[in-house]
Amino acid sequence: MVVFAADPDGRKRAIIWAHRSMSEKRVPEGIEGLLENNRAWARQVTEEDPEFFRRLSRQQNPEYLWIGCADSRVPANEIVHLLPGELFVHRNVANLVVHTDMNCMAVLQFAIEVLRVKHVIVCGHYGCGGVKAAMEHEQFGLIDNWLRHIKDIYLHNLEVLESVADPGERIDRLCELNVISQVFNVCSSTICQNAWARNQPLAVHGWIYGLEDGLVKDLSVVVDRPEQIPAIYRMPMTRQADNT
Ligand SMILES: [Zn+2]
Repeated sequence: MVVFAADPDGRKRAIIWAHRSMSEKRVPEGIEGLLENNRAWARQVTEEDPEFFRRLSRQQNPEYLWIGCADSRVPANEIVHLLPGELFVHRNVANLVVHTDMNCMAVLQFAIEVLRVKHVIVCGHYGCGGVKAAMEHEQFGLIDNWLRHIKDIYLHNLEVLESVADPGERIDRLCELNVISQVFNVCSSTICQNAWARNQPLAVHGWIYGLEDGLVKDLSVVVDRPEQIPAIYRMPMTRQADNT
């Protein structure tokens, strides 16, 4: 099914992913099936909007950077109903923003300095397997080193988390705290602070997605100026905003 929505100019445009019903049979299974799906999708979009791909190939102009979990149940564009070209996306296990992760930092820099996105959205999800694994004492391999960042968050919030009796609720609470922590990591990066120092409009948001109802909850964590981060993390150009 191709759904239409109005763009800011009021023109109709195709929302180009197919919302298949769960009962709808997919064309041939396996890897060949994916290629067949792709051809059908491209054909359908082109029929509805013959210029769509040509227009998009010339430039991308997204307003948003999405930093989300790699979990296959949390597809960024689909959740917020945005077209290709409207959302710049970075995903990894448990939506972490680590300052020594050149992959994430490169995405952040390109999105903010070149694409000049206005919003960075860190979106976690309840029941995150990465968060759950970080709360356990089992070895899973290399990923344990990555998940160590979540154990740090657990330790920093030990009292709050251990006051939650229900194990499932405790995982979900840590999922929320993880999002908040990653919002902070975005904001304390030099990339984000440089943007604020040159008065580039930029807001960083913390959201969490519910696997069970498909709804995004805004955690009401919005940071759009350096005064909102602790002074010790501020770079010289944003340090002057320190009134403490
Ligand atoms: Zn996850």
